Amino acid sequence: MYRARATVDLAAVRRNIAAIRGRLSPHAACIAVVKADGYGHGAVPVAQAALQAGAMGLAVTTCEEACSLHDAGLARGALVMGPVLDEQVEEAVKTGAAFALWSPEFVRSVGRVAARMQTRVGLHLKVDTGMHRLGAAPAEVPALVEAVAAHPWLELTAVMTHLACADVDPEFTRSQLGVFRRTIEPVRRAWPQVRYHAANSAATLGHPSSHFDLVRCGIAVYGLSPFQHDPAGDGLSPALSLSSFVATVRDLEPGDGVSYSLTWKAARRTRVALVPIGYGDGFFRALSNKGDVLIGGKRYARVGTVCMDQFLVEVGRDAPVRFGDPVVLIGEQGSERITAEELAAHAGTINYEITCSLTARVQREYVGVPSHTDELEDHG
Ligand SMILES: *Cc1c(COP(=O)(O)O)cnc(C)c1O
Repeated sequence: MYRARATVDLAAVRRNIAAIRGRLSPHAACIAVVKADGYGHGAVPVAQAALQAGAMGLAVTTCEEACSLHDAGLARGALVMGPVLDEQVEEAVKTGAAFALWSPEFVRSVGRVAARMQTRVGLHLKVDTGMHRLGAAPAEVPALVEAVAAHPWLELTAVMTHLACADVDPEFTRSQLGVFRRTIEPVRRAWPQVRYHAANSAATLGHPSSHFDLVRCGIAVYGLSPFQHDPAGDGLSPALSLSSFVATVRDLEPGDGVSYSLTWKAARRTRVALVPIGYGDGFFRALSNKGDVLIGGKRYARVGTVCMDQFLVEVGRDAPVRFGDPVVLIGEQGSERITAEELAAHAGTINYEITCSLTARVQREYVGVPSHTDELEDHG
């Protein structure tokens, strides 16, 4: 028995990569984004599964994330997309990492490291086409391209942008893609070997004209919907399920309150079951008195405040719910299913934050790891 466990199905990750690749034109490839410990799923096992299924590469936010993938035996250098500090760059360069680039200062600092280490470093020049977060203004692009090209140890691998509203606003997305196309046009003529990329999961699924040479998919790799819909609608399979167990059951009389501040009171004679997972596990307090869990294939409503370590559900006097019964918080049981999207809606957030928030106290378990026999079968 386990208190709180996240089961990650790596076969689902492989299916999701296949589903993503199935939407791309033959020359385009997929980079799997495994930042924030693979959106809470575990970066290393997800990265391995994604590469097995034909992802071309990996992307992360920090140098440390790139280094830890490398230390775990993933030899292909990752793309580091976030801002980096000079002193971290050297370690990441040793792992074969490439870097997103948006300033002349970074060309100088990464150039110094590359020259000192006599190592070629790939750069993905990031253009701000309207998100106004990271990226060089379109007018600064030609000078940055020249600065990279002039450096003997730097290589312009790609030009990229990031879309602010690919999940919600097709018109703004088209305008960002227009700015990107106009910006890269002269670069494309001079640098035919450079790759171009813009799409996150939402754009990959919703805007085929954003695919260019590469797509950078995060949320879809995990089988979650960038649109906060049912992921099945986009042919995605959720990889993560979250489960716990019934730790106690307790009979209540009408008017008995439960948990901190007694925010819920029994309306009748009833029974509650305690599920030992809480916001200390990353299961949000905002889910107090909201949403359901699955026990024995049936839905039961959460009642009272979610505590750091536990919460309660009302099961009623007649339900056959006992100590030790498995409880599903995200995932399937019988014919019922609770999605991360459903929980996110109750918590007033998005599925990304639901899985990213699961803390180290939640035990991770991996299933769908290809066995030697599977591989033999795959190859006939
Ligand atoms: C996180 C991130 C992605 C992946 O976004 P999803 O919506 O999870 O697909 C792509 N590009 C950049 C720059 C990112 O930061």
